[in-house]
Amino acid sequence: MSDKFDVIVIGAGPAGYVAAIRAAQLGLKTACVDAFTGKDGKQALGGTCLNVGCIPSKALLDSSRQYWNIAHNFPVHGISVKDAKVDLATFIGRKDKIVKQFTGGIGQLFKANKVTAFFGTGKLLGSKAGDSKSVEITAADGSKQTISATNVILASGSIPIELPFAKFDGKNIVDNAGALDFTEVPKRLGVIGAGVIGLELGSVWRRMGSEVTIIEALPDFLSVADADIAKLAAKEFAKQGLDIKLDAKLNKAEVKKDGVHLTYTDKSGEQQLVVDKLLVAVGRRAYSTGLLADDTGVKLDERGRIVVDEHCHTGVDGVWAIGDAVRGPMLAHKGSEEGVAVAEWIAGKAGHVNYDTVPFVIYTEPEVAWAGKTEKELKDAGVPYKVGTFPFAAIGRAVAMNEAVGQVKMIAHADTDRILGVHMVGPGVSELIAECVVAMEFKGSSEDLARIVHAHPTLSEAVHEAALSVDKRAIHKGN
Ligand code: FAD
Ligand code: NAD
Repeated sequence: MSDKFDVIVIGAGPAGYVAAIRAAQLGLKTACVDAFTGKDGKQALGGTCLNVGCIPSKALLDSSRQYWNIAHNFPVHGISVKDAKVDLATFIGRKDKIVKQFTGGIGQLFKANKVTAFFGTGKLLGSKAGDSKSVEITAADGSKQTISATNVILASGSIPIELPFAKFDGKNIVDNAGALDFTEVPKRLGVIGAGVIGLELGSVWRRMGSEVTIIEALPDFLSVADADIAKLAAKEFAKQGLDIKLDAKLNKAEVKKDGVHLTYTDKSGEQQLVVDKLLVAVGRRAYSTGLLADDTGVKLDERGRIVVDEHCHTGVDGVWAIGDAVRGPMLAHKGSEEGVAVAEWIAGKAGHVNYDTVPFVIYTEPEVAWAGKTEKELKDAGVPYKVGTFPFAAIGRAVAMNEAVGQVKMIAHADTDRILGVHMVGPGVSELIAECVVAMEFKGSSEDLARIVHAHPTLSEAVHEAALSVDKRAIHKGN
């Protein structure tokens, strides 16, 4: 096998593995280097997303939802189940099986597309302009080999941010990976950060019976989302027993015999809380340790992200960077689309990523989803807009499911009617947002969606009615 490739991708997360497959599809001889080790000590492709992120968290969200429904939803339907119990080993084991199935699946896809996988840490070496790029791979046993290519795509992803006064110990103070692998349900779970991970993994363990307290530094709940949607979501999470303390700053976390002792400050002063486990989920930072030799010319910004232009190019001939390692939202689908686009640009085709229509989803119960601008962003920018809303309480399918909470909120330009943002909280909104993204991608108007036939009875009627409501002509509510 020759060690010379057209493309080398460093990192096999959803950004890197997708870039590698697309490059290979386009006829480029492609290698992908990744260092992630699975629970069995073998290479596990798929990065954070497949191993300790999107996929395992959704597996536990779905299992815990089934359990929660037995006590909280079944009785409404007239179904009673006595003495429901969870076997935690099976609960976690099912998640592990799904992870293995999907990480193994990437290996199969690499074989099918003739992508050569290397197991080890890849380091981009310096080179003169016009030279091919070299990547040194260091295996777990310290052995090294060097491969080269015309183009290198850096897709090294991100890692959890650690707080200096609450350092991860993998047992009592954990990150996302630790909170996906508890061996027993913590009686009291503390979470630092009411962001996406805090809410999703906090929900998993709340449903399993933990008392969950979330400490959030900011005064506003879910400030990245539209304020109306965040308010509705907060109300539902509180009903479920998630105790979210806003405007609260953790000062100290000490592991003692009886648990983790937290000291935090809120509006009323200094507070104490003892929990059995502490999940710290205060954001992630781009990862590039050991990725770049000193003389590559690739630059990092003040947050450690690899600097790229709008085409994910680093400014160094033949070197590109994508995914969590660069600017933009840290989302699997954003990284994957960048991977496809870069492979296409390398192959001389017209790649494309529309950052304005990236959907955001939080897989809580109810789910939260949005795309485009929030009402506040439009107000601050002085853009004239009109708003349509529709509650799931008036949607027959949602009521039949006993999940009639939340609403769809659509924002359109006041003059052109072009859809500028859609924000939802409610059942199945992770799927409903796709219709709105398509409409926005095609520069659609609220009238376009209002004139489309939506099946009855479905949850998608909430999108239809919200679109009608933009022009005050919703049928099943007052306007
Ligand atoms: P990563 O997935 O982090 O992959 C980078 C890979 O590169 C890793 O395998 C790493 O080991 C490897 N690597 C790094 N440096 C080197 C090197 N020098 N040599 C070799 N290999 C290297 N996003 C969503 O869109 N939806 C979700 O539902 C969702 N849920 C999440 C849940 C959790 C708990 C977490 C933590 C994240 C979640 N995310 C979700 C975010 C998502 O996981 C990331 O946005 C995504 O994984 C980023 O992809 P990436 O390929 O850029 O990086
Ligand atoms: P996040 O940015 O979503 O939330 C972090 C929260 O912690 C914020 O609300 C922030 O204000 C708060 N915070 C920061 N420092 C704090 C401190 N010292 N004390 C208390 N609160 C503090 O980050 P995350 O939840 O760690 O997730 C990381 C990334 O992973 C996110 O960018 C997200 O995009 C991605 N992710 C996505 C999904 C999804 O798409 N469903 C799921 C999980 C993670």
